[in-house]
Amino acid sequence: MRILVVNCGSSSLKFKLYDLTAAATLMAEGLVEEIGREKSRFTYKSNKSPDKRVLEVVAKDHTQAVAAMKDALLHPEYGLFQGTIEVDAVGHRVVHGGEKFSNSALVTPGVRGAIAECIAIAPLHNPPNLAGITACETTFPGLPQVAVFDTAFHQTMPPHVFMYGLPYEQYDVHHIRKYGFHGTSHEFVARRCAELLKKDFDEVNLITCHLGNGSSITAVKRGKSFDTSMGLTPLEGVLMGTRTGDMDPAVVLYIMDKQKLTPQEMNKLLNNMSGVKGISGVSNDMRLLLEKADAGHRRAQLALDIFVYRIVKYIGAYVAAMGGADAIVFTGGIGENATAIRARIIEPLAFIGAELDPVRNGSDAKEKVITTDTSRLAAWVVPTNEELSIAQKTRAIVESQLRAG
Ligand code: ADP
Repeated sequence: MRILVVNCGSSSLKFKLYDLTAAATLMAEGLVEEIGREKSRFTYKSNKSPDKRVLEVVAKDHTQAVAAMKDALLHPEYGLFQGTIEVDAVGHRVVHGGEKFSNSALVTPGVRGAIAECIAIAPLHNPPNLAGITACETTFPGLPQVAVFDTAFHQTMPPHVFMYGLPYEQYDVHHIRKYGFHGTSHEFVARRCAELLKKDFDEVNLITCHLGNGSSITAVKRGKSFDTSMGLTPLEGVLMGTRTGDMDPAVVLYIMDKQKLTPQEMNKLLNNMSGVKGISGVSNDMRLLLEKADAGHRRAQLALDIFVYRIVKYIGAYVAAMGGADAIVFTGGIGENATAIRARIIEPLAFIGAELDPVRNGSDAKEKVITTDTSRLAAWVVPTNEELSIAQKTRAIVESQLRAG
């Protein structure tokens, strides 16, 4: 079965085409950036044409971006198909599924409506996700479209975990609660780690740390998300590239009042100007921060100290919340690559039996255990692959539809 995976942001469209027939094979991938401008940048490569091509295309909206993807896949020189694109379904990343979706779903008018209802709580993400679905429905009529939600994996959190301490009507009437994000990634690496530990997924307790530009930590208890650090939106939790993470909510009111900021200006401050970038004044790029900190840059060092401290605090909290853990899993750009950050996170966890193996931690292997054989709490690095996971989930939905006739 061939699955096209589409991930639409406000001004971008990322796609990957997988053949899942035997071992999963990536057939083609591309990225349209600067959608909405006069000219957009399109990078593309495929099995047939493995060198990355950088093209200029007209993509004033997501429909034109999808058309550019289709043209590339059908191109006589570097395309993969002649005449028609032979894929079986399209899987879409959808950020917010609210409380309606604890699994992926075939896109129907009802599903579209439910995704649209979540625009109120995900105004930046769900509109482009929907635009991508509409564009693919128009461009590939008759092809099943499947929505795969970032929030779905976390729908198993119990009420005493997902509720905020607000009046009950805020939840009941307005659906204000913790939802959590990066669910596809947390589930993917947790399942893989259970395999590596040779244990059933529903028997393991894991703490998965997705550390990238956006970061979140999840307590996976017996194969289900039990708690996660992000909340109603991706702002809550650990310190991130440009987001504050946890903070006294009164700070927001105080700043808005004293500095006369509008909700939009405050939103920008919290989401785009804060985090390690805001604290260091350097960058949200971890590589650059590590370099500067090594060279003695005081605020870069402070930003890293806060970043590490808060992750350690969440891990400690989740060990307590689950009554113990089998392993900690690192993933995402920072989790997979930043050896020094992993070491700094593991070091203070010695009190719960985590013992880093520096040689394993520094090895070139992508997937690896980084604690010693005698460590009571194991730590692993497991590369995430959200697109492959979306492709697999899409296939599962299409197959279940076929079985249901
Ligand atoms: P996103 O959340 O945008 O998907 P990624 O998961 O790609 O982000 O992670 C991006 C982060 O990973 C950046 O801060 C980048 O500096 C960091 N990163 C990537 N490679 C390395 C590396 N070798 N060492 C340290 N940090 C790295």
